[in-house]
Amino acid sequence: QEDVFKKIVSHCKEYGFVFPSSEIYDGLSAVYDYGQMGVELKNNIKKYWWDSMTLLHENIVGIDAAIFMHPTVWKASGHVDAFNDPLIDNKDSKKRYRADTLIEDYLAKLDEKIDKEIKKAAKRFGDNFDEKKFRETNPRVIEHQKHRDEVHERYKKAMNENDFTELRQLIIDCNIVCPVSGTCNWTEIRQFNLMFATEMGSTSDGAMKVYLRPETAQGIFVNFLNVQKTGRMKIPFGIAQIGKAFRNEIVARQFIFRMREFEQMEMQFFVTPGDEMKWFNYWKNLRMKWHLALGFNKENYRFHDHDKLAHYANAATDIEFNMPFGFKEVEGIHSRTDFDLSQHEKYSGKKMQYFDPELNQSYTPYVIETSIGLDRMFLSVISAAYCEEILEGGEMRVVLKIPPALAPVKLAVLPLVRKDGLPEKAQEIMKISKFNFTCQYDEKDSIGRRYRRQDAIGTPYCVTVDHQTLEDNTVTIRERDTMKQERVLIPDVEKEIIAKTDM
Ligand code: ATP
Repeated sequence: QEDVFKKIVSHCKEYGFVFPSSEIYDGLSAVYDYGQMGVELKNNIKKYWWDSMTLLHENIVGIDAAIFMHPTVWKASGHVDAFNDPLIDNKDSKKRYRADTLIEDYLAKLDEKIDKEIKKAAKRFGDNFDEKKFRETNPRVIEHQKHRDEVHERYKKAMNENDFTELRQLIIDCNIVCPVSGTCNWTEIRQFNLMFATEMGSTSDGAMKVYLRPETAQGIFVNFLNVQKTGRMKIPFGIAQIGKAFRNEIVARQFIFRMREFEQMEMQFFVTPGDEMKWFNYWKNLRMKWHLALGFNKENYRFHDHDKLAHYANAATDIEFNMPFGFKEVEGIHSRTDFDLSQHEKYSGKKMQYFDPELNQSYTPYVIETSIGLDRMFLSVISAAYCEEILEGGEMRVVLKIPPALAPVKLAVLPLVRKDGLPEKAQEIMKISKFNFTCQYDEKDSIGRRYRRQDAIGTPYCVTVDHQTLEDNTVTIRERDTMKQERVLIPDVEKEIIAKTDM
């Protein structure tokens, strides 16, 4: 699986999806640039999300708030005091880690061990294999499982109680070593705030410390009344936003999964207190449907309900996707109570209440939030779409089976040869089609190689202009996944492609 992940990362670079930031200076850790194909895919994901929120819900509107916000916003939200990760250094290698991640990786390794034993036994026993019974009786599995449960319990308790002495002790007791030095020589654990700070204003005494927002949500909360009043919104209603967020992540790894500058797509849905569980379940189900509608294997998705809740939340779940490095959070759905609006009321001194004409009373609304990382969504699409296929004749093709609506290029227009008037005919098709969807014209190399290039960027359809075109005004349309071709009249190409690539 690690191998597949490496291949995906290099494919993303080779075909203009994702480049390391400032690459000619050897890159900047956990920061990436989207290339010519990446930006199209990203924009298409944004549109798929934005339309599903704002077009399909009459009671959801969008905003675009600034990245800089008044510093008190982050006092009120709790980020100044509590947006921390537990940081630990290895004394020999001087490498820095997140203490919680070290333990989570250790737990994942134990799971893997158990899984391996079970798979081995399943193979040995064939149809007669009873997994439940095996788990209960096999001494090695029992031992691993017991140890795993103990570590998990201690870990959960230490995290809940912010008990860093115990967290460090757990790392030592499990003999978790630094992958670089191979030793278990750890420092104390310290709190590390994830917000980036900078200064606003030019004079040294007048300059104000401001933060780059670590989430987009607060821009929605502080504008809650502006939108509600000017948009004459009635509860329940939602505000959606897509924008950059910044976190000074301690350990940067896994490509665009954990970045220091990333993009979020968030929607805060304001409801009457008491109705929050109904709406939490509504959004939980609807968000999963949104993911499944892309058509990837549904085994790739699962919910992870939180048993440890943030202090302001009364329910929370993640939608996890089966990345090449295991199931990981892509989206969070949280019931945030009235925490944020109440905090802003407290810190700003401004009322953050809604007058409900039906109940004839004022109250602070409760909030259900859906928060998805655009870059993680991007990675999930690329991972699920990446395929290596052996063709008849033994040749291998790499194809990105991206859902047509999200594909960076919808149509490639290819003259079979670079003569006999075929390029001119192909250009005529380009002239019409480019107003409706992204098209690419390509006349270089053999037709087979051109198909391979389009497969590699996920283009769902290729139109080929050949000599028959000059006789009957038809072209072939080749479908990416089946590689089947059919002939259609040129005037029909446009509507065929629109019908096939619209979501
Ligand atoms: P994690 O536990 O993985 O750090 P989180 O629980 O802190 O994530 P939230 O604060 O709930 O994440 O943020 C909402 C969404 O924003 C996440 O589901 C994820 O998709 C995305 N996200 C958060 N941090 C990052 C990051 N460093 N890089 C890319 N996307 C991120």
